[in-house]
Amino acid sequence: MPQVAVMSPNGEVEKIDRDSQAGLEALRALSALLLKAALHQQFDGIRLGAAVAEDDQFYVDSDKDEQQVSADELASLEATIKQFAKDDVKVEFAQVKVEDALAEVKDDPFSTELINEHAQDGLVAMYEVAGVKSVATQPVLVYGNVVKNYQLLSVAGAYWKGMSSNPMLQRIYGTVFFKKDNLEADLKARQEARERDHRVIGNQLDLFFVDPKVGAGLPYWMPKGATIRRVIERYIIDKEVADDYEHVYTPVLMNLDAYKTSGHWDHYREDMFPPMDMGDGELLELRPMNCPSHIQVYKHHIRSYRDLPLRIAELGMMHRYEKSGALSGLQRVREMTLNDGHTFVTLDQIQDEFAKILKLIMDVYKDFDITDYTFRLSYRDPKNTEKYFANDEMWEQAQNMLKGAMDDLGLDYYEAEGEAAFYGPKLDIQTKTALGNEETMSTIQLDFMLPEKFDLHYVGEDGQQHRPVMIHRGVVGTMERFMAYLTEIYKGAFPTWLAPQQVNIIPVSDDRHGEYADQVAKELKHLNIRAKVDHRNEKMGYKIRESQTQKVPYTLVVGDDEMANGAVSVRKYGEQEQNGMSKDDFLKLIQADIASYSRE
Ligand code: ATP
Ligand code: ZN
Repeated sequence: MPQVAVMSPNGEVEKIDRDSQAGLEALRALSALLLKAALHQQFDGIRLGAAVAEDDQFYVDSDKDEQQVSADELASLEATIKQFAKDDVKVEFAQVKVEDALAEVKDDPFSTELINEHAQDGLVAMYEVAGVKSVATQPVLVYGNVVKNYQLLSVAGAYWKGMSSNPMLQRIYGTVFFKKDNLEADLKARQEARERDHRVIGNQLDLFFVDPKVGAGLPYWMPKGATIRRVIERYIIDKEVADDYEHVYTPVLMNLDAYKTSGHWDHYREDMFPPMDMGDGELLELRPMNCPSHIQVYKHHIRSYRDLPLRIAELGMMHRYEKSGALSGLQRVREMTLNDGHTFVTLDQIQDEFAKILKLIMDVYKDFDITDYTFRLSYRDPKNTEKYFANDEMWEQAQNMLKGAMDDLGLDYYEAEGEAAFYGPKLDIQTKTALGNEETMSTIQLDFMLPEKFDLHYVGEDGQQHRPVMIHRGVVGTMERFMAYLTEIYKGAFPTWLAPQQVNIIPVSDDRHGEYADQVAKELKHLNIRAKVDHRNEKMGYKIRESQTQKVPYTLVVGDDEMANGAVSVRKYGEQEQNGMSKDDFLKLIQADIASYSRE
């Protein structure tokens, strides 16, 4: 295996396998330093922040007085890096006196901060390459001539040290490999990721937007996105009602006391919006979870064993104060609506109820064509008495019930000891996003604690009061994250039952065929099919292409022949040919398509 020389942040050099992970990381670290040197050389007075090798890329943070570096300037930075490599630049190491290091970067507050942070005994370890010194933090390749297969990817804003109270810097990202093939494969995968990125598709199809100026992490669902969401919401409510859930609406604001009782105020405060002080001693809180709300519904009546299992569900809007750096399109937001539900059961009912919820979840997955998922069953760690609610018998019984239900259903699962919540064991269902990241979509969590804290009861067969167990469950998670997920797996081509516009009707000539087109649209709408006529004064080819870029499942073209025969010419999304058929046949075809998601 070819070897490469790698320098550690203490200045020691060793040879390692070039094709190892460490080799690649050191190549990224060197590329970051070269990019930093290129920025220094090309832009007078630029202030330079960290130069970092990450999981699958490298970046350099910088800040300029006038205009920031533009994406157009990336090519010339690449050329400068190429020249460095040709010139055989080499990384040198030095322990520099802090005062000397500081003197060199005196107008650059970021470098100054980095130097001060890493100073030890009046010295700071530094790499120097192409005349630019950087604090040594990561292992780096020594010889610059290996930096050949790289590409600068993008420029984006990033807060200094990831904190929104700090100035916004500019981050330039790049990717690099030893071999050209690897770079090409990486660029292809990135392209694929961009094409699936729900933020990009959301914009192209005008589904939603988030504008930090009007509220970071607070999404606006545009009509087409809202249509998809409405279809999903109606579907899920119908499905749950058919599965014996009682759907409710409860307020997003609640007296803070409820969150003190639930423990959220003590343990979850960082993720909550600050309470609203109403001036008369009342503190109102935007809810970060719906559990305390559903508990109020439970408590509103005296419950008997005959009422259990009691299943309360809601598309519950909640607010969480996520860090600004973590916000991403609809995937991570600050206002979200959870497909939430809480079922209240006796201890004996846990296993059956768990199996029932699981069946619901798997049914729903089938309808959305979600096939790539795994189960993770999380238990307590019996030795860790601090982390888990104390009641050995309950834990044992509950864990055995969950396991029993999984085994009865013949499902494979991964068991994670010590991963349970404080208040009970849980099952998470992990899905993979189109970009390969694992994400929890659904969850079923047993909870022995909230019923205690809120002092919930039911009257048993014996006429005595008993404590119910609560099960928190989410089927598709939040509408926001689910929408992001679906957009990526479908690449924006939503199946017909979800598509915001299902049929686009294009008259060959609006004067002659516009009326007939309207007539067809009317008949479709009468059947609750989302159809529109494109009456614009544009060329037909243009309209057909646009119908494809908007990923409308069915495009109908109607001209003289169609009008004379009560017919339509049908083009399905993604297909080239156009099939003539009678209007009635088309109605049958699309109705069958809409109904084809596998309902029981
Ligand atoms: P995460 O670890 O992603 O922050 P969590 O474990 O805090 O999520 P839960 O409290 O279990 O999540 O919330 C239930 C569901 O809400 C999650 O499965 C996820 O789908 C969704 N969710 C949580 N936070 C967000 C968010 N900021 N934006 C969109 N959806 C979210
Ligand atoms: Zn809950």
